[in-house]
Amino acid sequence: MSKVKKVFLCNNCGVSSPKWMGRCTSCGSWNSFVEEVIFRGPPGEEKQASWRDSDQHGGQAQPISIEEIQSGQTQRVATSDPELNRVLGGGIVPGSLVLIGGQPGIGKSTLLLQVALDAGIRVLYVSGEESEEQIKMRAERLSRSNSQCFILTETNTTRLLNHAKKLEPGLLIIDSIQTLSSPYIESTPGSISQVRECAGELQRFAKETHIPIF
Ligand SMILES: [Zn+2]
Repeated sequence: MSKVKKVFLCNNCGVSSPKWMGRCTSCGSWNSFVEEVIFRGPPGEEKQASWRDSDQHGGQAQPISIEEIQSGQTQRVATSDPELNRVLGGGIVPGSLVLIGGQPGIGKSTLLLQVALDAGIRVLYVSGEESEEQIKMRAERLSRSNSQCFILTETNTTRLLNHAKKLEPGLLIIDSIQTLSSPYIESTPGSISQVRECAGELQRFAKETHIPIF
């Protein structure tokens, strides 16, 4: 049995409400509510994501005494860009999810492709915006190459995370979250509920596999 759920979301602040409101009680904006149909598949369907059930504990964290936890053990992955390392607090933390935001055309894709090509580790660069050829051309303009940099054009979260689980990259780059769509949600890519769901799936994946995601 599938469960269909409808919610109203504020386009301005993202607050959800079971019914439509003319004025958002959270941010005060007018006519900002849009209806979004949220579809969640039957519970068993989630197991289709093969990255979930391949581990002994299903990738789930186990309780551990705070005295057994070793601090300072986290090995940050330094990127080739000293400024980016500084912003990240010294490098990429394994299992972290980092959102790179900025206006269109500001150079987010170029920055991240540069990171992918200079990383010195296996990187999976997933693009929902450009073709493989376009990415290759941009890499050539940067005059860089990395045989450990893999390109995937995919927008379905389950399929892309399955590829990431198989490839086991040291870094997963996704360009961009607005193009992703989760099979568990019916609304269009880029909508509030879709971005929220996709970000949640990416965060769970990063935590369970320790693969950092940009
Ligand atoms: Zn609002």
